[in-house]
Amino acid sequence: MAERFPESLQKKLSERLHFYEDLGVRLFYKQRGDLQVQPATTPATQSFEPPVSQQISYEEAALPKSTRKPELTKPAQTAPRMAPPQSVRKPDVLPVPAGPSLFEAFDKVPGDTLLKIRTDLGECTRCKLHTTRNKIVFGDGSPKAELVFVGEGPGHDEDMQGLPFVGRAGKLLSQMIEAMGLQRKDVYICNVVKCRPPENRAPEKEEVAECSPFLLRQIDAIAPKVIVCLGAIAAQTLLETNRGISQFRGQWLEFRGRKLMATYHPAYLLRNPSAKGEVWKDLQKVMAVLGLEAKKGKSAEAGKS
Ligand code: URA
Repeated sequence: MAERFPESLQKKLSERLHFYEDLGVRLFYKQRGDLQVQPATTPATQSFEPPVSQQISYEEAALPKSTRKPELTKPAQTAPRMAPPQSVRKPDVLPVPAGPSLFEAFDKVPGDTLLKIRTDLGECTRCKLHTTRNKIVFGDGSPKAELVFVGEGPGHDEDMQGLPFVGRAGKLLSQMIEAMGLQRKDVYICNVVKCRPPENRAPEKEEVAECSPFLLRQIDAIAPKVIVCLGAIAAQTLLETNRGISQFRGQWLEFRGRKLMATYHPAYLLRNPSAKGEVWKDLQKVMAVLGLEAKKGKSAEAGKS
């Protein structure tokens, strides 16, 4: 098409193309009205489940755009869902190692709020991370979110800004959230530890132990339907397991009665873009539970009776 798009549209298009590329989707075909391009064996609903080891061609209609539910929060009057949540298998429970649990001793604090939790955290000096941090990164997003993402710990950008996932990995996370049909303000994003571990090392056991009660209170106060653990540290912390994340990612698990899905960390995806298809599959499971519908492509529409 020789027409030029307005600059803002071009920018959006370019950002979205980069995101698809990040997901491993590289080949695009222009939709031609007179061509039947949708193979019978590739329903649009499966188009977001690319076997990433193979180069598959995707039509434009099959890209991971989704219909956005108006607000992913828990309003007093629940808005009608766009799609009935799919029934999911009862969450599995990973065998928990013997020994004291980080979490079971903690009861829900009645009437707890994020504000109270933040106040209780104060200018925290409970662990040595306070000596090197710039800003505490408490968490960000909707206090009524149905979906909470838990990462590992702040990096440099987060430490500077006091906000979670604002660096490169954060940009990718934002794109993932948008691909789910949501915006960052619809979900809640936090980390296992609230202060940056120096040199971005993994948080130590004592640091996790000091910070966990606050994470737990955040989750209880928000009461999300689904928790998505980003990466091994978050998943292993909440599930109290030392199993490798690849053993249980993509499965429905349970955390204090809530559905938990572990998936790869966006920083891992930046290093291993071929894993993005796996993550997208995990997020699609989350979308199904939350009643978020992937937008049907033109070809799927054409295939409808
Ligand atoms: N990685 C994390 O785990 N959390 C952040 O907030 C940023 C990067």
